[in-house]
Amino acid sequence: MKKDDPIGNFDLRLSKAKFDDIFGDLPVGSFLVDVGGADDYRYRATNRWLERHLDITGADIAGQAVETVPRERAAPQVLAAFNRCRAEKKRAGFEEDLLLPGGRCHLLVTLAPLTDAEGEVRQIVGIVIDLISRRRAEKALRDAERRYRRLHDTASEGIFQSTPDGWLINANPALARILGYDNPAHLIDELTDPATQLFVDPDRRQTFATLMRDKGQVVEFEYRARRRDGTIIWLSENAYAVHDDHDRVLYYEGTVSDITWRKDTEQRLQFLARHDSLTDLPNRVHFRDHFDVALAQSRRGGEAVALMMLDLDHFRSINETLGHGAGDELLEVVAERLCDCVRGGDIVSRLGGDEFGVIQSHLTAPNDAALLAQRMIDRIAQPITIEGHTIHTAVSIGITIRPDDHDDADHLLRHAGMALQRAKALGRGTFEFYSPEMRAQAENRMDLINGLRRALGNDEFAIHYQPKINATTGAIIGLEALLRWRHPDKGYILPGEFIAVAEETGLILPIGEWVFREVCGQLSEWRRTRALNLPVAINLSAAQFKDRGLVEKVVATLRWADVSPEMIELEITESVLMHDTEAAIETLRQLVELGLRISIDDFGTGYSSLSYLRQFPVAKLKIDQTFVNEVSSNPDDAVIARAIINLGHSLGIAVVAEGVETRQQLDFLNGHGCDEVQGFLYSRPLPADGMVDYARDHRSAFDA
Ligand code: C2E
Ligand code: MG
Ligand code: MG
Repeated sequence: MKKDDPIGNFDLRLSKAKFDDIFGDLPVGSFLVDVGGADDYRYRATNRWLERHLDITGADIAGQAVETVPRERAAPQVLAAFNRCRAEKKRAGFEEDLLLPGGRCHLLVTLAPLTDAEGEVRQIVGIVIDLISRRRAEKALRDAERRYRRLHDTASEGIFQSTPDGWLINANPALARILGYDNPAHLIDELTDPATQLFVDPDRRQTFATLMRDKGQVVEFEYRARRRDGTIIWLSENAYAVHDDHDRVLYYEGTVSDITWRKDTEQRLQFLARHDSLTDLPNRVHFRDHFDVALAQSRRGGEAVALMMLDLDHFRSINETLGHGAGDELLEVVAERLCDCVRGGDIVSRLGGDEFGVIQSHLTAPNDAALLAQRMIDRIAQPITIEGHTIHTAVSIGITIRPDDHDDADHLLRHAGMALQRAKALGRGTFEFYSPEMRAQAENRMDLINGLRRALGNDEFAIHYQPKINATTGAIIGLEALLRWRHPDKGYILPGEFIAVAEETGLILPIGEWVFREVCGQLSEWRRTRALNLPVAINLSAAQFKDRGLVEKVVATLRWADVSPEMIELEITESVLMHDTEAAIETLRQLVELGLRISIDDFGTGYSSLSYLRQFPVAKLKIDQTFVNEVSSNPDDAVIARAIINLGHSLGIAVVAEGVETRQQLDFLNGHGCDEVQGFLYSRPLPADGMVDYARDHRSAFDA
């Protein structure tokens, strides 16, 4: 190709299609012009670059005179260059500053003539280069490079290039800082074997190498890394392989960030999901996992494993009297003490509330479990000082053992729970091993609960009445209402068998309401038929005092039956005064104000400070049966009975003896001034009708 004819000779005129084929995609501007004569040059075609830069279409420009597009005013050098190219049949050119839609540009236009067979210039091809946009592109490239440098040097992320073997070729200051080196040069010098110096976990390094080799990149690849000073941090890395034109790996390039903080948080959250936040002990969910593992080990190794469930005694009252802060502190101390008692491989867990679980592995004898349980009981029994208060607490423990009791985790967990219930029932601060009888008991208990739930609706309850007798005159002065359950299969069931369960399940509330209503209804019925007119004592259990609506319900029922409050006496035990004493005393005061009388049942058996005797008027003290039983034969019981009678009288409170069965007992009590007696000596508790008959007979015997 000759130097003055860069495009070449075309014998035929160049068509638009041909032009597009050759020039359409050139990365510079290009146009084809038809030559009419001097000063007559019209566009035939333009390429895409030019159309884009001039913001026109090929159709718009076709046929336009060259001096009018894209400029507004004809520039003299334009036509001059075209004329030169046509006349001299060789390359010509011009330069021109223009404001195009894309911005200011400095165009360099080169024209090349196309001649026909006769050697006449029929067409001219133009090539347009924008010097400014080229300069701009160069500047942008330089800027990008500078920006990358700055980013590289100031980024908080580590940036690196390395050989595929992990040798660092380049590192930024952040990477040096993350890994604990003074500067990138130090890092590159000293980190010569990343596989052992950097990676904590060799397997992780292997995975990294494999991913890079097979996939050519890693995305957010997390691993634990060793800093220069040996501390361990978590890194997250993005890296990819850089290839040459022949697809050979040149080097690896990537970024690294320190995610230790995030990892720590994640781990803490995971820990929290599986641990109790107060004591840091494994929680119920985690305990179950531990137990499964312990069971599997036990099955493999043939050694026994003990599962223990522990429950703090009276935790609720401590929580209520000293506040939840103190309760929390108590739980923490208990957790610590339990952990002190067990061996390394054993697990202590807080299952919730005041309930703990212990897994004792590798038992050599069942006695091992008993020894540990006793150790824990003794340790917990030691006084604990919290906020200046000395607290005495105790723990009850239920124990079950694999393989003796069962092999299955769920069964064992249930067994331990049953053993715990049993330990608590037997007296607090003890441990109890699971036994198959407990299972039967637990089942009975479930039957009882289900039966109780049905009993109210099925009208299975009844009230029996027992007379209270004036010890001196022998006259009936009142009755005690005692609840009976007519079980469809089991016949009469005494309250001793179901009141405790009713209290635990909360069923005591509806049952207690029923009793009150029934008694009031009976009183009003007796008044209407003039059959009997005696005050009736109703037993209330401590659980009924938790019902804040108690007083209101009493008032409503009395009104409903039109019964005067003086006709009702309430028998409470001292346990009512043990929890939430102030609220209980306030309730009692309100009841007394209404005109009801209060007597203290089973007096002498419950702990009490007796100071309550001054806080609201108590009508009667009832000496518990256990003292009355042997009052005439056991000197200790006699002393207690006498003391209670004296105490009552000195406070102006009448004293009743219950459970009087023999003449001797009656004589003793009479001799010591006991006011009233109640017991089988006179009558067993009787149904309402039986009571009416008894009273009539008694009266006639009395009158006779
Ligand atoms: P409590 O109030 O101390 O009732 C006295 C218990 O002694 C009654 O037992 C009565 O039948 C029994 N008893 C009476 N005289 C004698 C006797 O001479 N010898 C012997 N061995 N026992 C005698 P019961 O009816 O089985 O009631 C047991 C406990 O159940 C009651 O003790 C009371 O605390 C509770 N209770 C009974 N009825 C109700 C009730 O309606 N509501 C509540 N909350 N508790 C009730
Ligand atoms: Mg009673
Ligand atoms: Mg009693």
